[in-house]
Amino acid sequence: MSVQKHDNLIGGQWLPGASYSANLNPSNLADVIGEYAQADAAQLEQAVQAARAAFPAWSVSGIQARSDALDKIGNEILARKEELGTLLSREEGKTRAEGIGEAARAGNIFKFFAGECLRLSGETLPSVRPGIGVEITREPLGVIGLITPWNFPIAIPAWKIAPALAFGNCVVMKPADLVPGCAWAIAEIISRSGIPAGVFNLVMGRGSVVGDRLVNHPGIDAISFTGSQGVGARIAQACAVNLKKVQLEMGGKNPQVILDDADLAQAVELSIQSAFFSTGQRCTASSRLIVTQGIYPKFVEALKARMASLRIDDALKAGTDIGPVSSLSQLEQNLSYVEIGQAEGAKLVAGGERLQRDTDGFYMAPALLTDTTAGMRINREEVFGPVASIITVKNYEEALAEANNTPFGLSAGIATTSLKYATHFKRHSQVGMVMVNLPTAGVDYHVPFGGRKGSSYGPREQGRYAQEFFTVVKTAYTQA
Ligand code: NAP
Repeated sequence: MSVQKHDNLIGGQWLPGASYSANLNPSNLADVIGEYAQADAAQLEQAVQAARAAFPAWSVSGIQARSDALDKIGNEILARKEELGTLLSREEGKTRAEGIGEAARAGNIFKFFAGECLRLSGETLPSVRPGIGVEITREPLGVIGLITPWNFPIAIPAWKIAPALAFGNCVVMKPADLVPGCAWAIAEIISRSGIPAGVFNLVMGRGSVVGDRLVNHPGIDAISFTGSQGVGARIAQACAVNLKKVQLEMGGKNPQVILDDADLAQAVELSIQSAFFSTGQRCTASSRLIVTQGIYPKFVEALKARMASLRIDDALKAGTDIGPVSSLSQLEQNLSYVEIGQAEGAKLVAGGERLQRDTDGFYMAPALLTDTTAGMRINREEVFGPVASIITVKNYEEALAEANNTPFGLSAGIATTSLKYATHFKRHSQVGMVMVNLPTAGVDYHVPFGGRKGSSYGPREQGRYAQEFFTVVKTAYTQA
């Protein structure tokens, strides 16, 4: 059977790539989802030129037309959420229910920003000089390069594209090479939405080729990036040299604190969700379970029992709790961290090995390591897989200190029935997002998303705070 070819969208045209790469299903490597174009330097140049040519008209276009187009895109994504969610599960490996949820989130994000572009407001103030008025307004930034990772292949493109377009910017987008299918599907929807040719451009291909050129291109005014800390830091340096505005959302080593007074069943369930759902491949996943010593023995036993009940299988199969790891290199990285942890003195008490299923895929049993300490690599470095370690502590104060003992600062959670500790933790955990009796992963689409320390750089994404990055402020003085 012939495999469908998917081209780049440049200046409103679908243009064949210089070459194509196969998008494979990590649940079943015999399943080829499609061939996706790889842009070369000439195509990237064409995309940037198309966006630059479209910017003058789009940047002053009417907000009603922009809002209508974004609403239409959102409605179509929502109407097709099952189909798009299935595509997502097939290319990335999260379960179909998670895939459909993510597709719905993407649709809702477009609809949220359809409203936001109508609400962009400014300020008027009197001048300190009599007879003069001051107006503060927000304007589009220009042409924005968007670079996205593989773990949320529809939601992250959506939460960058929607505000960029809502506020009058043009876009050149490079999705993750591993999972271009969902980004291509959004591009196809955008191409029929009434948004003028060149306003949105999709260039697929490798980060080291297309991403690097995008970051360094003089025709790009700003970069919004989500991905690993290493790549993010290099992009920040390049943007600093070229004086481009930059926004980076990067990794995490998110703590989940379990206190003695926690509801045990709730603490176990939210730890399972935080650490292992979506195969642990969430920047907000918790890989450090920080447990006070009173609850520790029963918590570990209950967690192991719950882990034993998890069904790890084909992402599209009904009843699967956890799908495969997304790629062979990620699977190898996960397994190597299980080894590293044990070599450092941790005890592997559950999972941690590759699994075979009916189809050839990258299946792994979620791993639980106990007897770990804060300095171990498994507690310092992002694994980005279903690998959790337990650190035991004496009391809340030690738990808080351990939670903050990390170079990352994305999200943190606490399981407790104490208002006092919950309130203190919300104020003192050094993160961008904090959860009480909830998993560290799983957030709303209409409020800010992001972290501090090594997890994020630049203004927040999502919600009305997205305007901080996607607009530029102008101060105008008028003498009557
Ligand atoms: P990654 O390797 O950093 O890649 C992210 C994107 O950057 C991909 O599109 C990649 O291209 C591209 N890229 C790679 N090298 C580049 C270069 N030199 N110049 C420009 N672009 C380049 O990250 P990943 O493995 O895809 O994603 C996992 C990471 O993302 C984890 O660290 C996770 O925590 C983080 N993440 C953070 C958030 C958040 O909001 N904080 C959300 C989700 C994920 P390729 O196509 O070649 O890979």
